[in-house]
Amino acid sequence: MSVTSEAGASEQLEVWIDQDLCTGDGICAQYAPEVFELDIDGLAYVKGADEELRQSPGETVPVPLTLLQDVVDSVRDCPGDCIHVRRASDGVEVHGPDAD
Ligand code: SF4
Repeated sequence: MSVTSEAGASEQLEVWIDQDLCTGDGICAQYAPEVFELDIDGLAYVKGADEELRQSPGETVPVPLTLLQDVVDSVRDCPGDCIHVRRASDGVEVHGPDAD
């Protein structure tokens, strides 16, 4: 799957997780531990470059371009269908359950 066709290579993307649907299996944290981490509550959260988990509902972190493929793989294999990647510029989802 091309990761550049839907959202230009230089386009800044951001990712968030809907914890209401997260099963806590940890697949995302295996694929992209720089971006996803399970917290003590057993659910996955996005993590910024500062290593802090973003725990407010819908809170996002930027997707580093070097990790985009790992993040997209996480979206694809997430059993909860609850990882959302969107364009920072207009909020349109490009990978995830709400993407076209
Ligand atoms: S892959 Fe999806 S369901 Fe599994 S821990 Fe990550 S966000 Fe939760």
